[in-house]
Amino acid sequence: MTNQGNKILKGKTYSLFGNHESTDEYYRVIRELTDLFLKRCPDEKSLLLHIRKAGGGRSSLSKAHDSSLIPFIKKTLTESLSLYTEGVRKHLRDLPLSRRLDSILRTKEVQYHLYMIEIELVNRIYKEAFRNSKYKFALIAHCLRDFRPDCRSIEGDIETICRGCTKECFIHIGSVLLKKYNIHPYISLSMDLDKLFKKIRAEHQSVGALGIACVPELVSGMRLCLKLDIAPVGIPLDANRCARWMGQANESSFNIEELERLLK
Ligand code: SF4
Repeated sequence: MTNQGNKILKGKTYSLFGNHESTDEYYRVIRELTDLFLKRCPDEKSLLLHIRKAGGGRSSLSKAHDSSLIPFIKKTLTESLSLYTEGVRKHLRDLPLSRRLDSILRTKEVQYHLYMIEIELVNRIYKEAFRNSKYKFALIAHCLRDFRPDCRSIEGDIETICRGCTKECFIHIGSVLLKKYNIHPYISLSMDLDKLFKKIRAEHQSVGALGIACVPELVSGMRLCLKLDIAPVGIPLDANRCARWMGQANESSFNIEELERLLK
């Protein structure tokens, strides 16, 4: 299955399809933008730090740094990525007070754009460390499963495991590919990633984690991994459509070719 074959999906806040028939154009734009920002700030880790600070609303950049960098990045991202985040403003307007405590749900549009670059940068920086990790696992968002059959997944050693009951299921397709690269795939259901990651970290000498999740969840997972000395990489869902966002579960997809590109 190629990404061109994926159905065009609209998410609650974002869709990597934008106004295209596949998400390939999104990945092309993200790579181009990251290369552009690296021309202004050639050190990948330093750029990552600035991108993160810019998303936090505070900019405590050193005086030696180019102070026009963050405004330039934010302006360029707004111009280039707004077509992928058209639902954010309405979602935030309609978000009830009781749900505003959820930091993922209250992600602002500028943060989505910065997170998109953060994912690309983390992939570039940690891809090699991920590959060289002695133990590699993947957490795949549960909303990627095929909604037609009753999912036959079972509880595994650390998380839920797909049993491959249908060939069309994105979790099955992803799992087959991940196993080819010696990565243990799991369906992500745990609410306590901190506890799960600490357990895995304690059991293995070096750990690499691959996430397939919606943009804000993926960034949150990647940041947690880095705190725990786990090498992270990840692929964002094509759109955010699970019950947490939409009130009811809707099928989703991800770009399989991009996953393979990350693993090769
Ligand atoms: S292929 Fe795996 S994840 Fe998909 S529905 Fe079957 S058991 Fe569940």
